[in-house]
Amino acid sequence: MDEGPSKGLYEITLLSQDTRLKGRPKLCSDCGLCDSSYRRLMAQTCVFVNNKTEAIEQRLFGRRRKAGDELLFGIYRAMYAARIPKPPPGAQWSGMVTTLAARLLERGAVDGVITTRAVPGTRFAPQPFLARTPEEVRASAGNKPCLSPTLNLLDEVRNSGVKRLAFIGTGCQVHMLRAAEAELGLERLYVIGIPCSDNVTYPDLQLFLSLISKSPDTVVHYEFMQDFSVWLRHENGHTERVNFIDIPMDKLSSVFPSACLSCFDYPNTLADITLGYMGVELGWQWVLVRTAIGEELFDLLKPELEFGPLTERGNRRNGIGRYVEMLARPPARPPVLIRKLIAFLQRRRGPKGLEFARSVIEMKLLRNLQYVRDRFAKHEARVVPYHVYEALEPYAPAYEQAFEQNLDPATDEVGRLKGRTLHVG
Ligand SMILES: Cc1cc2nc3c(=O)[nH]c(=O)nc-3n(C[C@H](O)[C@H](O)[C@H](O)COP(=O)(O)OP(=O)(O)OC[C@H]3O[C@@H](n4cnc5c(N)ncnc54)[C@H](O)[C@@H]3O)c2cc1C
Ligand code: SF4
Ligand code: SF4
Repeated sequence: MDEGPSKGLYEITLLSQDTRLKGRPKLCSDCGLCDSSYRRLMAQTCVFVNNKTEAIEQRLFGRRRKAGDELLFGIYRAMYAARIPKPPPGAQWSGMVTTLAARLLERGAVDGVITTRAVPGTRFAPQPFLARTPEEVRASAGNKPCLSPTLNLLDEVRNSGVKRLAFIGTGCQVHMLRAAEAELGLERLYVIGIPCSDNVTYPDLQLFLSLISKSPDTVVHYEFMQDFSVWLRHENGHTERVNFIDIPMDKLSSVFPSACLSCFDYPNTLADITLGYMGVELGWQWVLVRTAIGEELFDLLKPELEFGPLTERGNRRNGIGRYVEMLARPPARPPVLIRKLIAFLQRRRGPKGLEFARSVIEMKLLRNLQYVRDRFAKHEARVVPYHVYEALEPYAPAYEQAFEQNLDPATDEVGRLKGRTLHVG
């Protein structure tokens, strides 16, 4: 990757003047489409040019999202807490993603799987890869927590005669893939989605690790956990934990690409099945089966799974109300003892299970909506999808007080809708 590390506070990472990205729109998550011959489809497919979530939902599900959890989690027909009891080596969680994709190849249901393995000699540098054997898929287990231009493999897919494809990827990649789907000449497409938020370029990942870990070079696995801390596992098996509140955001505010700060699909809502972790208790994986193809995928994996309870505890509403105020007037970083207390209270009283997922998704929707308004105001109508305003509606009074602006641009006076019809059925 030739894009360098972040360029300093308040500058935007991954702009079109970066060498490899010349000619791309201002917002770009480097999904790979523009590195392929399908670049010609960019204007119609790129989520940052024109967010097509609503149209793609109509095509996949025949409807929009219902009020309630669908506004945050996307449309789903079943939800589970599950895991593979003995995780395969190298898996990020219990290995459901790579086990499922490997099964598709074993059963002959697909000719290839687009996955992301590590660049040889690195742990985390992403290398998009068209796997043709189950072993190759299994070897790609584990997060490479950086932007990975996976859609650049679409030419290889076409040129190698792959007609039945499984795709593993993040929400932005899945949006572009769905929007281009009809042009790809595939007979069958299985889309396995992973949730994704606040992704970074590889150089910025290294910067992030150097700022939060006592030994960044020995980190072999890390994850933002539901207990409000990052767990970093080291080569010697030791797990280092860093509370979210202790992450030096002042030194990191420029590492997040403007595209990721303008992203509204954390739970990967246009996939056939989403496999993550954030809606369930620690140690389990969160499964959202979305389409009929998603059901087929889930049935393939089911015999290998054990199931846990879907739980929810706590109440996110007050905390998110305070978060809106903090967005408008960011407080100074508290001293270390206060941070320890906050981390303790977050663990003790913070939202758990599904309520945790709701809270983190809402926070990202709010933060990203504000980011678009502050930095890319002209893009709002094209890049912010309908469900954002409906999902955040409970916070409209707090938002309007904090920002002196209506949350929903279709509302010209508090409570009076001008152009948008609220769908609550
Ligand atoms: C940047 C990033 C942020 C994430 N944030 C969250 C989150 O906040 N909440 C949550 O619930 N889940 C999140 N996930 C997903 C989660 O960490 C696991 O990847 C997921 O639960 C699958 O675990 P597994 O053990 O089944 O995967 P495995 O069987 O280990 O397979 C992992 C799969 O991830 C794919 N992959 C790895 N890196 C990338 C990448 N950079 N781009 C595209 N695909 C990749 C590989 O192709 C591989 O197939 C995130 C993933 C990434 C890459
Ligand atoms: S996000 Fe993808 S489709 Fe959009 S400009 Fe970047 S590479 Fe092209
Ligand atoms: S945060 Fe959003 S835009 Fe960025 S890589 Fe993840 S899904 Fe794509």
